[in-house]
Amino acid sequence: MKEVFVHPDPTRVGFYQSVLEEAGIPCFIRGEFGSTSLASRKSTFFSPALCVLHDEDEERAKAILSERQNPPLAQGPDWSCPGCHEAVPDSFGSCWNCGTLRPGLKEE
Ligand SMILES: [Zn+2]
Repeated sequence: MKEVFVHPDPTRVGFYQSVLEEAGIPCFIRGEFGSTSLASRKSTFFSPALCVLHDEDEERAKAILSERQNPPLAQGPDWSCPGCHEAVPDSFGSCWNCGTLRPGLKEE
């Protein structure tokens, strides 16, 4: 048993559980329906944890979850503007600061 995802929002944890189940990875949520006492349930530190049943599924589960958390829109690393040396996100074709075109970008 390994924790692969912990979040204070049970809805989100439940969503990721269904994602893993779709992928055929046996998993469960610890905490949500546990036999915790009322006192610990009130704790602000309490968060449900998504766990995989088999330790060997941990890496695969984490890979699947990180794919879900990082949509494909966020691609490569930032590039550095040759004009003003600002870091510009990969999805930008020109500098957000000074408008310099991204080096190496083909104009078609
Ligand atoms: Zn710039």
